[in-house]
Amino acid sequence: KDRRKSKDGQKSTKALSQLSPRPLESFAALATRFSAPKKLMANITEQDFEVPTEVQMGALPLLLDPASTFSTDALDMEDHTIDTADGINLLTVAPTGSGKTLAFLIPLLHRLLVEKRGEARTEHRTSTIILAPTRELASQTVNEARKLARNSGLRITQMRKGMRFAAMGHKTDGTNDTAEEKDDSISIVKADIIVSTPGLLESALSHADNAGGLHHVRDLVLDEADVLLDPLFRDQTLKIWTSLSNPALRVSLWSATMGSNIEQLATATIAARRKLLSEQLGV
Ligand code: ADP
Ligand code: MG
Repeated sequence: KDRRKSKDGQKSTKALSQLSPRPLESFAALATRFSAPKKLMANITEQDFEVPTEVQMGALPLLLDPASTFSTDALDMEDHTIDTADGINLLTVAPTGSGKTLAFLIPLLHRLLVEKRGEARTEHRTSTIILAPTRELASQTVNEARKLARNSGLRITQMRKGMRFAAMGHKTDGTNDTAEEKDDSISIVKADIIVSTPGLLESALSHADNAGGLHHVRDLVLDEADVLLDPLFRDQTLKIWTSLSNPALRVSLWSATMGSNIEQLATATIAARRKLLSEQLGV
């Protein structure tokens, strides 16, 4: 998002138009433009959507390959540079019912399937967290994600009370095909994607056994981000966000409104993490 004030109206209009990605013209273009994996394409086709919605047209290219959708000029504008090498952080505001779920799920599954090519299918290291304000929404999102991940070997789990993360270095043996392993009274999550409310994930994270359990997480999605960042959930959401220690973490926020100072909170959190990480790395 280009946030420059219009000191020079013309220049900033030009920069903004350069920042618009080339829209996704059809679902078939996911394969032709972005080499989407066959399984993912088959599962999208299965759902008989005719054309991508407006938010899908805009957000999918940005998340799948930002470099290919921006012009070179826009990537290196005079007062800030957009580094697309490792993906971008995205804030999307679009009305309820406009298809935001598919817009964040497709790029997540795309990346997981590409990364898992040639890897053992029995390894389910959590690299994606989707936060939703209610268990009902979390469960709907799990269902949507499972439809898109059918026959792919990816595992998607909704966080429940008592679930724990696998310790660092934990290897799954491939003999157990349930979503978690029973270990006395607790369940060890073995899933590529975890969908959770902030409360359940935060309480799991605050358990000493879980420290470091999510250091592989590369994608964080805040669905209904205006609610996740309103005073009721804000502390839990930001605590989870800042505890994810992977320097390559990429965050996307999805909302129907611009409430709760969502943009300021997101920008401040991204800057705070960046500072923390550069201190830790000593640069
Ligand atoms: P939002 O999160 O923006 O409120 P949802 O992701 O819940 O919206 O989608 C609303 C409905 O639209 C869902 O039933 C979904 O299956 C459907 N939908 C999503 N994308 C498309 C599409 N490209 N064409 C037709 N229907 C779609
Ligand atoms: Mg939604």
